[in-house]
Amino acid sequence: MLKIHNSLSRKKEEFVPIEPGKVRMYVCGLTVYDYFHIGNARTLTVFDMVYRWLRSEGFDVKYVRNITDVDDKIIDRANKNNEPIESLTARMVAAMHEDTDRLLLLRPSSEPRATGHIDDMLSMIGRLVERGKAYPADNGDVYYAVREFPGYGKLSGKAIDDLRAGERVAVDSHKRDPLDFVLWKAAKPHEPHWHSHYGEGRPGWHIECSAMSHAELGETIDIHGGGWDLQFPHHENEIAQSEGASGRPFVNYWMHAAFLNMDNEKMSKSLGNVFTTREILAKLDAVQGGEVVRFFLLRGHYRSEINYTWDTLQDARNSLLALYTALRDVTPADVAIDWSNPFAARFRDAMNDDFNTPNAFAVLHELRGEVNRTRSHELSGLLRALGGTLGLLSQDPRAFVHGAVAGGDDAARIEAAIQARIDAKKARNFAEADRIRDELKAQGIVLEDGAGGTTWRRA
Ligand code: AMP
Ligand code: ZN
Repeated sequence: MLKIHNSLSRKKEEFVPIEPGKVRMYVCGLTVYDYFHIGNARTLTVFDMVYRWLRSEGFDVKYVRNITDVDDKIIDRANKNNEPIESLTARMVAAMHEDTDRLLLLRPSSEPRATGHIDDMLSMIGRLVERGKAYPADNGDVYYAVREFPGYGKLSGKAIDDLRAGERVAVDSHKRDPLDFVLWKAAKPHEPHWHSHYGEGRPGWHIECSAMSHAELGETIDIHGGGWDLQFPHHENEIAQSEGASGRPFVNYWMHAAFLNMDNEKMSKSLGNVFTTREILAKLDAVQGGEVVRFFLLRGHYRSEINYTWDTLQDARNSLLALYTALRDVTPADVAIDWSNPFAARFRDAMNDDFNTPNAFAVLHELRGEVNRTRSHELSGLLRALGGTLGLLSQDPRAFVHGAVAGGDDAARIEAAIQARIDAKKARNFAEADRIRDELKAQGIVLEDGAGGTTWRRA
């Protein structure tokens, strides 16, 4: 029985989908003005894990993750680059796919783009105006009237009057209330704009998710996710828009992924401690890197903050390497998961307890110990298959342990050197055997002599 911590009720709840066996899930995706950073990667990877686990549990999941392809940051960046907006966003979407592929993320069922759903947004805005929840202002903007939505603040736990007391911005003369937020912005010169009943303009950010979620998944959905920073105001505003327009509940389970910090500080552009996923992958082994980052991002529970440092990443690498080494040493049998096996049962319990990946990974390590002890091909196959439910341990174990060999070098050369060392030893030429080992060591290749012969790995 799957339990999910619902940010709305602040409790772990049994997961009951609207339609048996089916899940409708929406996750707030990227704003495509730059390469995504390792903090974004965490949120993306957490929901990929959720998606994979739901599928592994037999649900038919429709997973929608939007692409924000029109907003201030995009417009500014395109201007700075002297590049058309469409060319900037097309490049960044292509780069996003390259990087998410390397992190072994499955493509969502659908990746709607804001600019492809302007009509849906306008029709939702129209419904909100009709129902008295929104109003066009004199300057051509359209605002949501927050006071007209009685449930405002239920997700973030903020009371409207407290929000008002904390309001520091000068009262915008076009808003009836400082808390009101924009649904449609009147066109400014040199900005992209669309025609509407309210005049030329472009949508606000919040309306895009309400409208695309409605268009792709219907009025009420099972799961809505994003990073915890989106809880307020973005998700609070989504609720006001969607429920204000439909009169029905919008989301049954809200999920928020905690932040990734950098050297124990919040990662932010102003602190200058932002690393793109691309930059980090470029510093890692080409074969191992993507899965190492994925493993690192999933090692902490999704509701706990995690800290990125080079050392924590290396630690994750060593842990993953230990799992792969067991698979290399004991060839995995091709088995379907037997969920009555105690390791499998405990892994599943951990995952069904609000996606407790740290506990699930601990089970994988215990199972690894058992594989090494028993040399059971079935248990090795189970290890591989359990990892596979989370998008891990599916590469060729030998290739993974070897890693990419730098400078166009290849494994064959190393294998040949190992054979030459074996031959030297047979001829009792130990000086030559040691020389070969030292030469490989100088290249970062470590030889390990074991019962089954000599194996190698990168240092
Ligand atoms: P953005 O492109 O800024 O809209 O962010 C895309 C997603 O990444 C959102 O779900 C954010 O909540 C999430 N996000 C941004 N920064 C971090 C971080 N440091 N750690 C985890 N998630 C983040
Ligand atoms: Zn959103």
